[in-house]
Amino acid sequence: MKLTIEFIKRNFNEFNEKFFSGKLKKPVFEINRTRSFFGLCCWKNKTTKKGKLVCRFDYRIKISEYFDRSETDYINTILHEMIHLYIRQFDLAPESEHHGRVFKSIAENINKHGYDVRYMQSGEGVGLTDKNVVFFLTAFRDRSGRYFLIRYNPKRFDYFKYNFELSGFTKVIWFTSTNDKKYGHLPMCRKRAGGMLISEDDYNELKESEEYRETA
Ligand SMILES: [Zn+2]
Repeated sequence: MKLTIEFIKRNFNEFNEKFFSGKLKKPVFEINRTRSFFGLCCWKNKTTKKGKLVCRFDYRIKISEYFDRSETDYINTILHEMIHLYIRQFDLAPESEHHGRVFKSIAENINKHGYDVRYMQSGEGVGLTDKNVVFFLTAFRDRSGRYFLIRYNPKRFDYFKYNFELSGFTKVIWFTSTNDKKYGHLPMCRKRAGGMLISEDDYNELKESEEYRETA
């Protein structure tokens, strides 16, 4: 579905009454197109010079519309971020604890009402809103014998090719794909280091799959 601020607001207000006794202070809502998360809850800390917390302010809930998701998916993400907001506004767990005991117990209570709030939200296997994206990918074996898969910007093809040679990477394959469900969650690599570790079986499967096309 097409995500709107209006939709986020309406659900926020409803769930605030239903699950949080209307106690949540309204954050700023934002929609972006990042591939690094489905939703994010953030805020700023005001501290003394010695680092003691004075207050928290500028709470924001950001939801990405990069992935192609249903109304139900978005609702579960809004609820997920509202739990983070609740924990922070009422200081129910340490800041370093993201999906710990407190988060899980609140999520479980909400899920009893027919929702599906997950502890981890991953873009793996989820398609994209933009159906015209072509993924430029490369897989290779590094000098220690491990296999990697990288999504790269085609403008940087020469850079990657040169660096792979320099690094002694072997069995390098270059290919493109339009399979957004399979590759949509991969970050765009800027440096040759990075990328996703894959098994030798995964590598062979990639090489044999029909999607495999030489682009170099
Ligand atoms: Zn979370």
